Amino acid sequence: MDISATVTLNNQVKIPQLGLGVYKSLDGEETYNAVRWAIEAGYRLIDTAKAYKNEASVGRAIRDCGIPREKIFVTTKLWNGDMREDKQEEGFYESLKKLGVEYLDLYLIHWPVKEKYVESWKIMERLYKAGLIRAIGVCNFNPHHIDTLMETAEFTPVINQIELHPFLSQVEVSDYCSKRGIAVEAWSPLARGRLLDHPRLTSMAEDHKKTAAQIILRWHLQHGSVVIPKSTHKDRIISNIDVFDFALSESEMDSINALNQNTRFDQDPETFTC
Ligand code: NDP
Repeated sequence: MDISATVTLNNQVKIPQLGLGVYKSLDGEETYNAVRWAIEAGYRLIDTAKAYKNEASVGRAIRDCGIPREKIFVTTKLWNGDMREDKQEEGFYESLKKLGVEYLDLYLIHWPVKEKYVESWKIMERLYKAGLIRAIGVCNFNPHHIDTLMETAEFTPVINQIELHPFLSQVEVSDYCSKRGIAVEAWSPLARGRLLDHPRLTSMAEDHKKTAAQIILRWHLQHGSVVIPKSTHKDRIISNIDVFDFALSESEMDSINALNQNTRFDQDPETFTC
């Protein structure tokens, strides 16, 4: 596994295994710089969303970076409000326009909005078949949401992007996804920094001469997940991708697995209010 590691999705599209998340990165210089630094450091996947209100800065950074568009994997997401108001297509075209791209690499349903996600999927399938999106997937879907989707779906989602970190290892959802050929992508992979002083992780970090953040990211990669740490700091952006020159042993992997407490730090797909 090296910096060019990819995961092959169920439609044969390859997604880089490590990318940059930009949730809470401010539109303008903050997001622009983060994306430019990330691409310079070797990132080729950027994960944004209409709801993050920074797609324009992501698009500008991608245009300015000197790497051809087709070498950068761009993900954005269909927002809940657009589903509730039946403005799925408008939402999609707004994202495309803000990003200033002609196609998306990956488009995701952001949350399983009840009564809306099944028809939203149909619309995304149409856009996919029209060649405007290379792959379509979901976020925050529990197995029952995917079961419902699959009753009428033409295409299986390629990926399920879920909250996933050592305190929330999501074994059940991951096993379900792997049986159906759905890749797992970890959001809040660093639990937003909350676990970085955990003694088990800092001790492993010392052993490997790495940081606790790098230990966690490596744990995700060795599980086969796609991982999208967010930072707006250049040094952290660089160090978060510097995780391909060491490996965790099986016992270290087990020891991190054992930290699971099924603790969420953000909304639950069964009760979300956004
Ligand atoms: P992360 O787990 O990636 O943590 C980000 C936080 O950790 C920031 O506060 C960042 O601070 C800090 N940080 C990052 N790297 C380091 C480091 N090396 N050392 C110390 N602190 C560090 O959380 P996110 O919630 O942002 O998740 C990642 C991405 O997942 C999002 O940006 C978004 O793209 C996606 N996401 C998707 C969701 C969905 O519903 N589909 C929901 C939430 C996130 P700083 O920026 O100051 O460096």
